[in-house]
Amino acid sequence: RDAGEALLAVENLRKTFGGIVAVDDASFSVERGTITGLIGPNGAGKSTTFDCITGVYTPDAGTVTFDGEEITGRSPPAIADRGLVRTFQIAREFPEMTVLENVLLAPKDQLGESLWRSVAPIARREVVEQEEELVEQAWETLEFFEIDHLAREYAGTLSGGQRKLLELARALQTEPSMLLLDEPMAGVNPSLEKKLLERVHDLQERGYTFLIVEHDMDVIMNHCERVIVMHQGSVLAEGEPAAIKEDERVIEAYLGG
Ligand code: ADP
Ligand code: MG
Repeated sequence: RDAGEALLAVENLRKTFGGIVAVDDASFSVERGTITGLIGPNGAGKSTTFDCITGVYTPDAGTVTFDGEEITGRSPPAIADRGLVRTFQIAREFPEMTVLENVLLAPKDQLGESLWRSVAPIARREVVEQEEELVEQAWETLEFFEIDHLAREYAGTLSGGQRKLLELARALQTEPSMLLLDEPMAGVNPSLEKKLLERVHDLQERGYTFLIVEHDMDVIMNHCERVIVMHQGSVLAEGEPAAIKEDERVIEAYLGG
């Protein structure tokens, strides 16, 4: 890990919806190997920022640089292929498929069919071998999140917390180097929340980088090395959790709504 190196850099990002300025000249960076928190009152522009970073939306202005390469305006599959994936505030699993099938479909989903086609034509034996490898990897991921006993259940039957773990498992199956998590703890019971946070730290140990939108201040204070605060589309403050907690502008932004 190169300490202090920016893996993700957002510069002067702007995104409007008609007359609404959702993201207003936002700039920040995330250091490689860190767990960084992105906080701010409702409507601050956090989810829209994630959407602009991961290609869901093309920003009106500004740039997104990931791992030394500008990725602004690229498609979500192209960005996922570079190693940057996100989870959604509202989980997007397929309820009518099993947990295992959901994990197996994740790379197709995030990376797009084109990448899968680009490996063809190859011998049928190779296809079978590749598929076996993917299934093995999917099982490993399910075991890692301790939801392997649910592999054959329909995703639609999972609890809110289990769906969040599945969402993470699906993101991981694409073999990213950085994960953007949008409110991963929302609706998760305390014991699953603990498990989820442990897994995030395990993954950090393995070299993954995280940017996490989270409302629970205790989670931010106890688990993030750096915090970025957004307010009305812009970055209001950036720094270590202890300093952010005391920052008058941050307190005011939260009290002001
Ligand atoms: P946060 O995730 O911080 O709560 P959002 O990024 O979801 O904030 O929203 C920022 C602002 O942009 C809000 O005012 C929201 O209503 C608006 N907004 C977000 N997405 C859309 C959209 N697709 N169309 C119109 N307005 C939107
Ligand atoms: Mg949001």
